[in-house]
Order: sequence, then structure tokens, then C-alpha cells
Amino acid sequence: MKRITVIGAGTMGNGIAHVFAQKGYEVNLCDVSQDALSRALKTIAGNLDRQIKKEIITEADKDACLNRITAHTDMREAVAHADLVVEAATENIDLKLKIFGQLDETCPENCILATNTSSISITKVAAVTKRPEKVIGMHFMNPVPVMKLVEVIRGYKTSNECTETIMDLSRNLGKVPVEVNDYPGFVANRILMPMINEAIYSLYEGVAGVEEIDTVMMLGMAHPMGPLHLADFIGLDVCLSILRVLHDGFGNPKYAPCPLLVNMVTAGNLGVKSGEGFYDYSKGLKEKEVSQQFR
Ligand code: NAD
Repeated sequence: MKRITVIGAGTMGNGIAHVFAQKGYEVNLCDVSQDALSRALKTIAGNLDRQIKKEIITEADKDACLNRITAHTDMREAVAHADLVVEAATENIDLKLKIFGQLDETCPENCILATNTSSISITKVAAVTKRPEKVIGMHFMNPVPVMKLVEVIRGYKTSNECTETIMDLSRNLGKVPVEVNDYPGFVANRILMPMINEAIYSLYEGVAGVEEIDTVMMLGMAHPMGPLHLADFIGLDVCLSILRVLHDGFGNPKYAPCPLLVNMVTAGNLGVKSGEGFYDYSKGLKEKEVSQQFR
């Protein structure tokens, strides 16, 4: 595998492009928004600068890494020679189904189609393609350059060969892959999102304030970041979409998203990416938050 296309240049897409390019893969990064692409390239350059500062890479490594990334707004052009596509577009089932239908028509026959979805069924996404055995979940964690885990999710028809290829590829990226089956939320979000939702309910019901809730979980449970702060980093819209998938998928009221989360998303308070969530980011990230991202 040499040529990787990443669809979506948001929070996750830029990190995924970063790690592949840093390991020598040729990366085509595609987004419908030129602004998102420009922001992604700026973010990658900034994160590489941080790695230089920490003497993990050199200035020449940074230039080589950036030179391996080409930005596209035209998906056909971006996937024309791809060996693997990693889709990291907005968490929306209709959008993912549309993208996978288009990818199946335009990607080379042997190309593996992976999705970084946090919760959407791999089997459902695979079903709109004529290559369900080559469709798989490749769930990176945020921030991608730092976090070791890749949750590798087998859809109902994903082949052993495809799974092995993605497990090996993840190891080549310096990550630790874990194979899981395709049920709502997989493992990571089935456990994480109810905790975040419960933290939001605790705030909504007036049990404690934002900082108090986060402090309890950091100092009491040794979490590196409190659940409300983490939700801001994930994106409150992403959290809401995942909780809806869990709620619909299991039909269990314990997954019902907290009304406060619904209101915040409706109001456009999406966390770090919109400048405001449970905390205020309008003046940028604090030094502590940046170093937590790149510890
Ligand atoms: P984001 O909102 O930051 O970025 C999504 C990007 O997709 C945007 O730049 C948008 O312009 C682009 N996009 C939308 N439609 C597109 C299309 N048709 N073609 C190309 N690009 C398109 O979202 P994100 O947080 O990066 O999440 C992306 C995916 O990764 C989601 O499936 C999400 O569930 C998953 N994920 C997110 C996190 C997280 O912490 N945010 C962690 C793991 C997985």
C-alpha cells in the first residue's frame, strides 16, 4: 500500500493525513470545503512544528511530510489511484452512504474502503457497495498523531484478508490495532459516550458545575481530561450523533441524549471547533490544553 486518500479534512481527517504522510505514504486529502483543507494543512504544519520543538523530527522531515500531502476538492481526482481510502467526513449516515456509493464507483477495483466512523454500522455502509468484503472500520482516536489505538471494525462481510491488511497497516503506522465486531458504538464509544452523557446530565440536573464534574473525574478516577472537556474536544455534534446511534441501535432509553447536549448543538456550541462548548475557546487553546493534545 502506497497511496492513501483521506476523505474529510476536519478534526480527524487532518490527523489521519498527518500520520500516514509521516510514515512515507502518499496522501491525497479531500474535502468539499477549501477552507477546511487550508485549515487542515495549517494544523498539520503546526503539529509538525511541535514535534520539531520536542526534537522528535527535523525541519527536513516536516517538509518531506507536507510534500507528501496533496489537497483536493474533487473526490474523483483524489481517489483515482488509491490503494486505501479512509473516510473521515461528518458523522451522518446519509452522507456516509452517499460517499461510499460514489467511492465504490470511482475507486480502483482492489482499493480497500475504510471508514473512521465513531458509531455508524460498517455493515450498512458496506451494503451500498459491490465490494462489502473490502469495507472496514478504521477508527482512529483523537488526537490521531498521539493516540495509539486503532479500533478495527469488521462488518458482517469484511474478509479476513482485508482485516489482516488493515491490522498490519495500523501497526506500520506505529499504532496498536484492536479487532472488534460491528455493533452500535463498537467498544470505545459504547463505553465512553454514556459516561459523557451522564456527566452532561449531572450538569443539567445541577448536581455540580462544569469544573467540579471534570475535577472529580480527573483527580478521583485519574482521567487525563474531564468528560465535559473531552466532549468539547471530540465535538458536541459528534457526541450527539453517536448517542443517537446507540439509542436507535439498542432501543434502550439509557442512551437518550441529555436535552442540554441537544440544545447546545442546536445553538451551534460544538466545543473547540466552534470556539465554545462547556468551556470558552474563543481566545484559542490554553497552553495546558495544547500540551494535553500533544503530550
Ligand atoms: P469534523 O466536523 O471536524 O470534519 C468533517 C469534515 O468532513 C469537514 O471538514 C467537512 O467539510 C467534511 N465533509 C463533509 N462532507 C464531505 C464530503 N462529501 N466529502 C468530503 N468531505 C466532506 O468531523 P470529525 O470530528 O473530524 O469527524 C470525522 C469522522 O471521524 C466522523 O465519522 C466522526 O464520527 C469520526 N471520529 C471523530 C472523532 C473525534 O474525536 N472528533 C474521533 C474518532 C472518530
